[in-house]
Amino acid sequence: MTVVTRFAPSPTGMLHIGGARTALFNMLYARHFGGRFVLRIEDTDRARSTEEAKTAIVEGLSWLGIAWDGDVNFQSTRQERHRQAAEDLLARGLAYRCYCTPEELDQMRQAARAAGQAPRYDGRWRDRDPADAPSGIAPTIRLKAPREGETVLSDMVQGEVRVANSEMDDLVLLRGDGSPTYMLSVVVDDHDMGVTHVLRGDDHLTNAFRQIHIFQALGYDLPVFGHVPLIHGADGAKLSKRHGALGVDEYRQMGYLPEALCNYLLRLGWSHGDDEVISLADAIAWFDGSGIGRSPARFDYTKLGHLNGLYIRQSDDARLVDLIRPGLEAALSRPLDDSDLRRLTAGMDGLKQRARTLVDLAQAAAIYCLHRPLPVDDQARPLLAADGRAHLRVLRQALAADGVLWQRDKLEALVRDLALSGGHKLGLFAQPLRAAVTGRTTSPPIFEVMEILGPDETLGRLDDALAPHT
Ligand code: GLU
Repeated sequence: MTVVTRFAPSPTGMLHIGGARTALFNMLYARHFGGRFVLRIEDTDRARSTEEAKTAIVEGLSWLGIAWDGDVNFQSTRQERHRQAAEDLLARGLAYRCYCTPEELDQMRQAARAAGQAPRYDGRWRDRDPADAPSGIAPTIRLKAPREGETVLSDMVQGEVRVANSEMDDLVLLRGDGSPTYMLSVVVDDHDMGVTHVLRGDDHLTNAFRQIHIFQALGYDLPVFGHVPLIHGADGAKLSKRHGALGVDEYRQMGYLPEALCNYLLRLGWSHGDDEVISLADAIAWFDGSGIGRSPARFDYTKLGHLNGLYIRQSDDARLVDLIRPGLEAALSRPLDDSDLRRLTAGMDGLKQRARTLVDLAQAAAIYCLHRPLPVDDQARPLLAADGRAHLRVLRQALAADGVLWQRDKLEALVRDLALSGGHKLGLFAQPLRAAVTGRTTSPPIFEVMEILGPDETLGRLDDALAPHT
C-alpha cells in the first residue's frame, strides 16, 4: 500500500502555525513511508474563501519547504462529483430528502437547547413517504446514519475513541441549493485521492465519526485517522494572537528562518527522545506516527528564539547577508553598495553569534553600513563623556601612527598595551572605543569591527566622537 497523506486547508484566512504543523506532519509521514503528500485547498465556501488566503497557503508552505506532490487540488472543481455521490446514496436508500423549513430546524434546535441537549435533527423525513413532500421547498439530502450501536475510531494519536450512534443525527450531504457540504466533500475527495492517512487537528475529532458513516455508506475503505492536539499558548490557554497564533508570513517578517520554524513546529507535539535540533532528513527518517503527544503542546517564543539563533549560527554567511538585505535597506533608506556588502560578508560570522532573529541580525549589522556621523544610543552616550573622550584622544593618536597594522589581534595588542602602560584595564579603553566606533555598547568584538571597517572609517568615527558638538 502506498501511503497518501494530505493537507486540506480552507482558504479563509492566513496559514497559521497550527495549519503549518499539520502540513508538516503529513509531509513527513508520507516521506517516511515513501508515499505521496497532496495539497487540497477546500475552497467550497465561496463567501469565506479568498484569493489572498490561497496565495498565503501556497507561499507559506513553499517558504517553509513543505513540498507537496503534484498540482494544488481545488475542492471547488469537484462539486459535481460530490453531488453525484450524494445522489448515489439517495438511489441506494442510504440517504433521503429532507423538506424541513429553516423555521422547523430552528424549532428543533431551540427544543434541544431547552432540554439541555446538543442541537440535532430529529430525523422526521427519514422514513416519511416522499409523496408527502411539500411543494416549493428545495430539499436537502441527508445521510441515513446508523442509529443503533456505536462507532469506534482507532485513532493513531487518541487511541480508541467510541461514540454511541444515538448521539449523532442525520447530517446534511447536499444543501437545498445543491451544494455539497464539507463532510461529504472531504470523504469523497479523500477516497478519490487515495488518501490512506488523515493527520489533522483534534478539533476535527467529532467530525471523524460522521465522516466514518459517510465512508461506510459509500462503501469506501476508511483511512487511518490521527487527531493531533491543538497548540496552546505558554500559559496553557487556547492559542490566541497574543500567544503567537499568527500567520506563517508574520513569523517570516519577525525574522525566523523557515527551517527553524519547521524544527520548532515539529517539536511542538512530537518528540524523538531528547532530540531538539532535528534536520529535515532526520525528521523524515524518524517520523513514523509514533511520538505524537496526546496533550496540547505549549507555544513558547523563548524556545523558538533559541532554536532560531542556533539555525542562524549554522547558516551560510552569504545567505544571511541576502536575507537581511531588504530589512537593512529599508532601515537605511538606501540600497546597499559594494562596500556595505563586503563589510557585511566579512562581519557576518561575528554578527550571527548573538542574533536570535534576522531582525536582530539586521539591526546589529547596521554598524557596518551606517554613514557618519553615527547615531549614538542612550547606553553608549555616557561612555563618550569627559573621561571616555580623554582615553579616545590617546587612542586616536596611537591608532593613526605610522606602521599600525590594521588587523584585529594587532589592534587589540596596541590598545591593551596603551591601557596597561597607563595602569588601566583594557575595558576602560575598549568601552569608549566601542561606543565611538559603533554608537552602541554591544557589538561583535570591537577589534574585529575595526579591522573590517578599515582605518579611514574607524578614525573618522573616532573624530566624530571627539568633535566638539558630541
Ligand atoms: N478544510 C478543513 C479545515 O481547514 C480541514 C479538513 C480536514 O482536514 O479534514 O479545517
